[in-house]
Order: sequence, then structure tokens, then C-alpha cells
Amino acid sequence: MLVYNSQHHKKEELTPIEPGKIRMYVCGPTVYDQIHIGNARTFLSFDVIRRYLQYKGFDVTMAQNLTDVDDKIINRAHEEGRSSAEVAEEYSNAFIDIMRKFGVADPDIRPRATQEITAMQDMILTLIDKGHAYAANNGDVYFSVHSDKNYGILSGRDLDQLRAGERVEVNEDKRNPFDFALWKAAKPGEPSWPSPWGDGRPGWHTECCAMIHRYLGTPIDIHGGGQDLVFPHHENETAQAMCAWDAALANTWMHTGMLRVDGEKMSKSLGNFYTLKEVLDKYPAHAVRLLMLQTHYRAPLDFSFSRLDGTLGTLERLSGCVRNLMWAANNSASPAHELAESDNVLVAATTQAKADFVAQMDDDFNTAGGLAAIFALTTAANTYLDQNAGNVVAYVATDAANMLVELLAVLGIDLSASTQNELPAQLIDLSAKLANYAGESTEEAAQALLDARQQARAEKNWPLADSIRDAIAELGLTIEDTAAGPRLTTKGRAVRG
Ligand code: AMP
Ligand code: ZN
Repeated sequence: MLVYNSQHHKKEELTPIEPGKIRMYVCGPTVYDQIHIGNARTFLSFDVIRRYLQYKGFDVTMAQNLTDVDDKIINRAHEEGRSSAEVAEEYSNAFIDIMRKFGVADPDIRPRATQEITAMQDMILTLIDKGHAYAANNGDVYFSVHSDKNYGILSGRDLDQLRAGERVEVNEDKRNPFDFALWKAAKPGEPSWPSPWGDGRPGWHTECCAMIHRYLGTPIDIHGGGQDLVFPHHENETAQAMCAWDAALANTWMHTGMLRVDGEKMSKSLGNFYTLKEVLDKYPAHAVRLLMLQTHYRAPLDFSFSRLDGTLGTLERLSGCVRNLMWAANNSASPAHELAESDNVLVAATTQAKADFVAQMDDDFNTAGGLAAIFALTTAANTYLDQNAGNVVAYVATDAANMLVELLAVLGIDLSASTQNELPAQLIDLSAKLANYAGESTEEAAQALLDARQQARAEKNWPLADSIRDAIAELGLTIEDTAAGPRLTTKGRAVRG
């Protein structure tokens, strides 16, 4: 399989360090607020990458940190008059909840920065010992970029150009303006831990690097995050690893493109800023997932609510197709017979869909191409159903349905829940009303139930139409299809119609 390695700016054959195993790490959130849909795009991309690697048979171990000590957390805690630990706890839980609601699988290992202080201090001590870091007079410890001949290896930046082109915070305690803090001396009112350099807390870049080394061992196979993390975060992570342990931090670096809203950068000041929670309060997780996967993970992703509305229809088309295939298989009048031309066409389309899906996903996780393979099978299946109404070959229809379910599951879209023939809640209410029938509301309820069945039929949602008919029959009522339209009767007496 080919994977784009952002360090080398090209696709490379994925060669696991240990055959059959992939160790991966994706930088987690700083837990000071609800995550936004841009963050969600990155986490979703790596969820699908992980699922696909598992589908290919790799034994994947994934770690993701929670950055639970940081300036942003400290500021929020001060504003709200509570402790940093309380703020971090609230938003760590919020993050875990919303990822589960989004269908992003939990990582195997979820270290928290505040629980890993010893590992980070060990790494800093090693870096000082090897002459790559120094304790400054202000109580900070800095990584010395000048001491690292490879500095810039990931982002392709050259220290001399950096000096000329980019403005950095002037700090007289640093030997070089691009030296970065491995350890930050405690300021009053901030969370801190004792250290050989005085009380303080770790720097952000230090966290991920020490946790990767502790939990996965270095180098790992895949390190991921959004493109905005390439510099300085990932550059600094890899610099520390190479200087501390003489090995790269990761063999393959993967970076997701940024999410934009209606073509513009998402920002609070532009008013186009959305948290994942507020979007998932209004839309099903599968719809958001489908929207995001229609764009390749490295390309910028244009989010808009009109596009999201569009995916609702696409999702319904997919689940409707699976539902109708299963229904047709269960209600087929056809005895097992020799496959006819149209059966063979669907059998071939089913095999082709998997081959195309795998080819696309093997090419740097091209989810848009993978979805196209799924849509092609849906089209073939709908044609098959139109041509063979009531007379399909059951296993041909079932195999196609199972293939759609299998491939969508690799993308994290679980159709099994949405394709069950359960009565929607409002219809259950209606049949409850009819069950104690007599009284004013009965007629309306009967009519509504009939209307719902007619609509299900018009939409060719045969399983739902059947479920409604069955629910009606359970009430001792019968639908009679008369010349004037359907009517509902009980023991010969019309209820409505
Ligand atoms: P942060 O909490 O800011 O470190 O972000 C968590 C993850 O979300 C990182 O991998 C970021 O690169 C990623 N990220 C931040 N903004 C966006 C965006 N607009 N689109 C995609 N990913 C983003
Ligand atoms: Zn990181």
C-alpha cells in the first residue's frame, strides 16, 4: 500500500517496522474547550486510516494523548475561578464523549500529560546530558536547535532562513530565538511539579515525544496530526527524539488538510466556527462522517451545512439500497435457478466494488475513491432490484447487501442500525392510539398510519411498508386496497378510509 509521507513529500510503500504490526500515534487535543469540526476532521481521518489498516489485517496499536496542562487551560481556569485540573477533567471527558458519539474508536492507549511527568523529565535529562538542552537562568529548560544538525528535517525549514524570515518571541534566556522550552518554570497560580530545575511544567512538544517513547517505543510506523502541526510541533518532536535516542520518531509522517467553512478559514471572529458537539446535536454522526470522507484527507475540506444536508439523502440512498436488497432476498418468489444475465451483472459488480474500494484505499487512503466504488455498487443493485422485482436470487441480493455493509463499516459507517425494519417512533405512537381505539383520535391515527404506508410504498421502502402493515394487523385491523384507495377495517367495520 502507498502512503504519502509528508517528510519526503511523496507516496511510499508502507513497510511496517515489525511485520504485520503498525504502531501509530495521533496528537490529541488540548482540553480547554469543546473541539471544533476542524479538529474532528483530523481525528476522523486517522480513525478511518486505522480501521482500514485493521481491515488489511494489520495488528494496529494506536496511542493518543490528552494535553491536560497548557496556557489555554490555565487561562480558562483563571477566568472561571476554578482549578486547571477541573477544566482539564471536564473537557477531557467532553472530548472522549463526543469522539464516541462521532463513532471514532477509542485509542488503545490514552496517556495524559500530567500523569507522564517522570517520563518527560527523564527525556529532558538525557537531552541535557547529550548537550542538546540547557537549563536557563529563568528556570526554563530549552532545547538547543543549533546543537541538532538535522533540525528542519521534517518541515524542510533551514535555520538561517528562519532567522531571516520569521519573527519570534525575543527572550534573552534563550541562546537561539528558535530554541524551544522543554520545561517551563512555574509562575504563581499555575500547576507545577518539582524537578531538578525547580518547580515547573512540561512544554507541549516534550509531551508527545516522551509518551510515544514510553508507550510505543521509537521509531513508530505512523505519526499523524493536522498540517498546522508540521512546524514547529512535529519538527520539535522529531528533533528531541533523534537527539535523545538516536532514532527518528516516526517512519511515516501523515498530515491532514485543514477544514474550511464555506471556503473561508473557520474562526470565532468570522462567526463560522462550529464545535463538533453543536453539529452532532443537529445531524447524525454518519452524515458528518460521509461528508468528510468525500474529500481526500490531505486536501482542504470545504464544510457547509448545505453539503451536509446533501449527505442525508446519500445516506438514505445507501441504507435504502441495503434494506431493499435484504427485503427482496427474504421475499423472493424465485426458486434457486441458474443465474440469469442480470444476476451475473450484480455478482460481478459486487466483486468489482471490493476490488475498486481496496485499490483506492491502498492508494494513500483515498476515501473519496472508496466511496465511489460503494456508490457504483449501489447503482448496480438498484438497477437489479428494478429489473427483478419479487424475483431476485436471494444470495445474489444478500451478497451485494453484505458487501455494502462491509465496505461502509471500514469507513466507520455502520448501516446495521439504520436498516432494521423497526417502526419509527411516531408510528409506534399511532398504533398505540389505535390499540385503544374508539374516540376522536382514532380516525386521525388510522389515516396517518395509512398515509405512512402509502409514503413508504411511494419511496419503494418495502420493508417499512410491510412493517406498518404488520403493525396494523397486530391491532386486529386489516388494510383493504379498494378502488378509492386503501382503507382500514376491523371485523368488517371501516375505521377510516
Ligand atoms: P489542537 O487541540 O489545536 O492541538 O488540535 C488538535 C488537532 O486538530 C491537531 O491535529 C490539529 O492539527 C487539528 N486541527 C486544528 N485545526 C484544524 C482544522 N481547521 N482542520 C483540520 N484539522 C485541524
Ligand atoms: Zn504531538
